[in-house]
Amino acid sequence: MTVAESVPRAILDTEEEFNPLASAEARFDEAAEKLGLDEGMQKVLRSPARELIVHIPVSLDDGRLEVFTGYRVQHSIARGPAKGGIRYAPDVTLDEVRALASWMTWKCAVTNIPFGGGKGGVVCDPSLLSPGELERITRRYTAELFDFIGPEIDVPAPDMNTNEQTMAWIMDTYSMHKRHTQTAVVTGKPVDLGGSRGRSEATGRGCMIVTGEALKRFGLEPAHTRVVIQGFGNVGGMSARLMSQAGYKIVCIVEWDGAVYNANGLDIAALMKHRKETGSIADFEGGENIDREQAMFQETDVLLPAARENVITSHNASKLRCKILCEGANGPTTHFADPVIADKGIFVIPDILANSGGVTVSYFEWVQDRQGYFWNEQLVNTRLEEIMVDSFNAVVAYAEKHGVHNRTAAYMLALDRVAFAVKMRGIYA
Ligand code: NAD
Repeated sequence: MTVAESVPRAILDTEEEFNPLASAEARFDEAAEKLGLDEGMQKVLRSPARELIVHIPVSLDDGRLEVFTGYRVQHSIARGPAKGGIRYAPDVTLDEVRALASWMTWKCAVTNIPFGGGKGGVVCDPSLLSPGELERITRRYTAELFDFIGPEIDVPAPDMNTNEQTMAWIMDTYSMHKRHTQTAVVTGKPVDLGGSRGRSEATGRGCMIVTGEALKRFGLEPAHTRVVIQGFGNVGGMSARLMSQAGYKIVCIVEWDGAVYNANGLDIAALMKHRKETGSIADFEGGENIDREQAMFQETDVLLPAARENVITSHNASKLRCKILCEGANGPTTHFADPVIADKGIFVIPDILANSGGVTVSYFEWVQDRQGYFWNEQLVNTRLEEIMVDSFNAVVAYAEKHGVHNRTAAYMLALDRVAFAVKMRGIYA
């Protein structure tokens, strides 16, 4: 009996459903088949261009020497330098980094910005590491990657458990090796160190812009639109703040430790203050506590999952009662859930479109660094809006033209653009 035969089918299904690489490949296969991409091109687009594994020796604060493993995957460099974040987490795997790198390729292609896709990760638990240890890990990881990254090669950014401080260390280490300051090697830096105005709000702002475009299709106005948001961090919190300022009714916020509801719309600024003071969104006096497990499945106009991957699955998708699903998080919906959502007629704004505001303003940061000339926030926001609206319209037009759902359309559009670049450049041999 093989290992697979000895494992119950339900467990295999769950593992396959939750494996990010399997999910990325399933969506790739569907889009490639619908596009009629030939087998050779499918092989090219499916394979990462380069993968690097590094083992990083680091002195810990107590004098011990530890070795951490780091990855960097450049999935595609056909349309420009690789672009994508670096995450620090104990459960980072090469497969996960590969999947995330390919998503970045498709995301940059959907928004038509001149980047390929990349992703990196270091296997470590930041909650157990001091700032000094994190700095030494970051600098040694950067030094190991030195020949593989750069403004024209591969431009990292923050991801899970990395932030603008991490980017400042990477930029400094890279610049020390280069012997001159090279800010464009990473994005997501502090504004005073070559970062872009509007970057920290960009992903949430992008979610609001595409939701606004989707509303027009339902004849809805923000003031009459109920929104449920899962996750009150960078993406969810910023979406909530900007959408509530724009008049949307944010009726519910769902976090890992509770959910709060107010039928007339929550006061988001007050909820942020409450969480800052108490450490939780629960027991907010401007709303009522509701069951967090059920909160995502209440009737609403817009559901915006902005916490983590795999929250809408084949097991719960049938319970959704929203008109529009705007995927702020990466991979919140498993590929097994896609057909269930399609049957329900929910209008999906897929993650590679919905949360692409972040990478779009990262692109602006890279442009500004290379120009050495910085834009005001209004210009950043205006240009972000242009790109988000154009990308939304391109995906929806593609869906209508080819008779497919928005997610498949977004992948088809992206694959088509990358395949075009590969074909026009030709295969160098
Ligand atoms: P974050 O850590 O700032 O926020 C995530 C929030 O979700 C936290 O408040 C956390 O407590 C909450 N959360 C975690 N698990 C939860 C659960 N099971 N139920 C409810 N809430 C839960 O992270 P972020 O930067 O906002 O990223 C969120 C998602 O968006 C991730 O999937 C990320 O990859 C994606 N994303 C982020 C950006 C960006 O610019 N930050 C860009 C594109 C995509």
